Amino acid sequence: MTTLEAREIFQILLRTYRDTLENQPSTGRGSPYQVLILTILSAQTTDLAVDKVRNPLFTRYPAAISLAQAQPEEVEEIIHSLGFFHMKARHIIGAAQALVDRFSGEVPSTIEDLLTLPGVGRKTANIVLYHAFGKNEGIAVDTHVKRLAVRIGFSDSPDQDRIERDVMEYFPKDNWGLLTDLFIAHGRAICIAKKPQCPVCPINPYCRYYHEIFLQKNT
Ligand code: SF4
Repeated sequence: MTTLEAREIFQILLRTYRDTLENQPSTGRGSPYQVLILTILSAQTTDLAVDKVRNPLFTRYPAAISLAQAQPEEVEEIIHSLGFFHMKARHIIGAAQALVDRFSGEVPSTIEDLLTLPGVGRKTANIVLYHAFGKNEGIAVDTHVKRLAVRIGFSDSPDQDRIERDVMEYFPKDNWGLLTDLFIAHGRAICIAKKPQCPVCPINPYCRYYHEIFLQKNT
């Protein structure tokens, strides 16, 4: 994989998924407080499911100060449909308390500060920085990004941090946040986990998996 090929992949994915990104559920939109809470809740579930709890949650807890004082059972009732609701309720209440205690109720805009919040790892921090503050600090390596990075040939590592560093090397910093969203869109639509749709994939000329595995099996 060359840098030029990587840039071509970026342009193709951008043309393919620009509309999808504009019309997707609003998990990544809203105030920094909303983006942070929704991103923590989005672990192990779909954006659509998270979008459904958005209104009831933020009507009841419109800011960090109200969520910080919430009873876990009340929060659990609202987010019950998302799964892992005990842990997620604990995390978002804990994150809200940390915002109130240490950041004047505001979401911090540096990765170092974000990583001190309950329920926030590098993946969540990168998403919050990009969607809430427009900052490109890294690539959020979720299950889709991890799979695509290895299949396409950007990385050979099973380690999320290493994958992040490997992928970042191919793209300018300004593209990191958008690239994450494009990989996730492509992972949901075509490069799906169980059966990637390689014959119709617009980036197959550049993909290692396509040449080394798909074509070998099907020719
Ligand atoms: S060619 Fe296949 S494996 Fe490669 S990115 Fe496309 S769908 Fe995924």
